[in-house]
Amino acid sequence: MSKKTVKENDKEVSKNYVGLARKYRPQTFEEVIGQPHIVRTLKKAVETNHVAPAYLFIGSRGLGKTTMARILAKALNCEKGITSTPCGKCESCIEISRSNHIDVLEIDAASNTGIDNVRETIIQSVSTVPAKGRYKVFIIDETHMLSAQAFGALLKTIEEPPSHVVFIMATTEGHKVPSPIRSRCLRFDFRPVSSDELTERLKKIAKAESIDIEESAVRLICEYSEGGVRDAISALDMVRAYSSDKINLKDTEEVLGAIPSVSIEKLMNSIAVADSENAENILKELWEFGVDTSEVMRALLFAFRKELFDVIRGNDKNFKKGRIVRSIESILFSMERTRYSRHPLIELELLIAKLSSISNDEKTLKELYEKLLNYETFKSIREDTAIEPEQKTVKKIETSREWDKKKLLSIFRKEEFFSELKAASPNSEKYCRDAEISIPKDGTLKLLFKDKTLFERFEKDHKAIADIKHAIEFVQTGKFHIEFELSAQSKPQQIQKELNFEDEKSSDKSKAEDLDPEIEKIKRLFGADSVEIVKE
Ligand SMILES: [Zn+2]
Repeated sequence: MSKKTVKENDKEVSKNYVGLARKYRPQTFEEVIGQPHIVRTLKKAVETNHVAPAYLFIGSRGLGKTTMARILAKALNCEKGITSTPCGKCESCIEISRSNHIDVLEIDAASNTGIDNVRETIIQSVSTVPAKGRYKVFIIDETHMLSAQAFGALLKTIEEPPSHVVFIMATTEGHKVPSPIRSRCLRFDFRPVSSDELTERLKKIAKAESIDIEESAVRLICEYSEGGVRDAISALDMVRAYSSDKINLKDTEEVLGAIPSVSIEKLMNSIAVADSENAENILKELWEFGVDTSEVMRALLFAFRKELFDVIRGNDKNFKKGRIVRSIESILFSMERTRYSRHPLIELELLIAKLSSISNDEKTLKELYEKLLNYETFKSIREDTAIEPEQKTVKKIETSREWDKKKLLSIFRKEEFFSELKAASPNSEKYCRDAEISIPKDGTLKLLFKDKTLFERFEKDHKAIADIKHAIEFVQTGKFHIEFELSAQSKPQQIQKELNFEDEKSSDKSKAEDLDPEIEKIKRLFGADSVEIVKE
């Protein structure tokens, strides 16, 4: 769905109309939301007269870097004196807010990348004293866009800055600022504002402006702004212009170009009960409607996030916590992969199939471990078993309540791993079918290839390595490192062998394993196919 043009507002628009984002731009440190760590440090620096000669503000757009820089400039140049609470009413404060103070220079590096411009606007004016304020403040936006020569000139200045000069460099890409500059600046990282803080802020503005808006609409705006205050307030401005009555969720969805929440709700219900036919129909509808697949994934991500919060708050819903966590992991993985995929719709369909197949009852490894520790479980297995185990074995189980944890963690949930991998890519799965797999120690999955050609092909197949990493981390829960090597016993005829993926078969199953009675118990508990004991 494409964004709709905002309708002409029925109300008369004043000639001096000021956008909400500008009207509600913070004018003091107290009004800034979401960056308490920066506010505290800057206020203290001003109060104790320890202002650094150069600051670097890093963070995505719309988080208030320039606004913070202007507040600092006001704190230093307010006619009341150097203060952490600039008055906002004196000539200096007003001029700084309007970006026309003679001693506060705002430079947009995106449009001033030449060395001459930097020399003119910075280096030369640095040598003169402030015309009316106490400090000359240089606010450089998009600092990373400066040319290498411009950075060189800037570096010379900040190496020995005059005491009346403060540089505030803002950038969305801190890593692109040369390290000699970075190391001479006091660095602040701007965080995305939390959804709750943003919601509070929007509600306050709506109240002050007599904007009647549903709570769910405010929430949607906040989700869409991804922590950016300016974007959120601008979006509120847009929906206000769109509807003259009470702003509801539907209007807001249309203005933001969001997927109708009704469709996402239906899709979530289908996923919950694994109704793939219904899910497929909803997807088809959305697709015909022109909805972008990444938008659907994003909407699902937020829907599962909401489910998670509901579960944490104790409201039991369609999904259990473990399932929600795994679903979110799957969505994030698919979102990342879809960025490089030429088949986004297939990626989305695959994701829906995966989300539907994640069971609510699925146990995490920790849960399985706890289950195994539970004596009652063993007792029930013993009772269920038709053939009574030897007397000696029973006694051993009854007395050994403390299970060997290390042994348990090395249980490779093989079948689940393969099914997860197959869902991601049949090709990636086939590599693993050919290689000998082991988990020699926690956090490592080792692939031992017998076939040199296949090994060489695998080495270059970054997608397969990523798929395997994701599958093992998904199944075993935790961070894994993938190691692979060619078996010393790889034979020449195998190297020459023409690869035929279709004929590859698992050679692991034929391996004889220890008939350890404890291992046999685990096998009975989870099914022999899903258990493989890996020797250390
Ligand atoms: Zn003032």
